[in-house]
Amino acid sequence: MDTSDFKETIDRLKKLNARTRGDLLDVADDYLKKTGREKFLDKIVVKTSDYGYSLIFKEIHAMQWYPVAIEVALLFSMIEILGWEERDIKEFAKSFVKLSFLERILAKYFITVEKTYHQASLIWRRHMDSGELETPEFNREKKYCVLRLKGLDLHPLYCIFLTGMFEGMAEFITGSKINHCRESKCVFKGEPYHEFIVSWE
Ligand SMILES: [Zn+2]
Repeated sequence: MDTSDFKETIDRLKKLNARTRGDLLDVADDYLKKTGREKFLDKIVVKTSDYGYSLIFKEIHAMQWYPVAIEVALLFSMIEILGWEERDIKEFAKSFVKLSFLERILAKYFITVEKTYHQASLIWRRHMDSGELETPEFNREKKYCVLRLKGLDLHPLYCIFLTGMFEGMAEFITGSKINHCRESKCVFKGEPYHEFIVSWE
């Protein structure tokens, strides 16, 4: 995993006026405890302070708004300390949907799969105050939908995190264990927005 641009990325994100709820910060330590990696917590906290943030997990509130740079700094620290590959990021993101309040929000917005899909931009706004999540296509027959994220370019590894998050959300909404999300377009590959295709069986 190439970590060479992590520091400059956090410096760039610190200048963004983008905020996210504390839910990821709130569940990170629970996730590590559940997966038997509690002993790495201290090292992760030290690593996060290298990025300029002192995290005290027990003082984090899931519903409070935090600069998005803190969330990415924690994600980067976990990747570095735990030696994570893309699949580990995705697995964490899927668990994040289960451990955070996202499933409760989804349950609240749930009508049918298609109608819930069309609420995606509202659901996004509950979690993140920046970027627009658009819903250009829902294909009922072929069982896939398209999500577009505009105006929030964090880091390619955060795009991986989002594929896992969308997969976890699709699993909850469709009730199918067999679902898949891939990023089909990405700003970091020179395209105008991030586009995700979510499919299920
Ligand atoms: Zn992307």
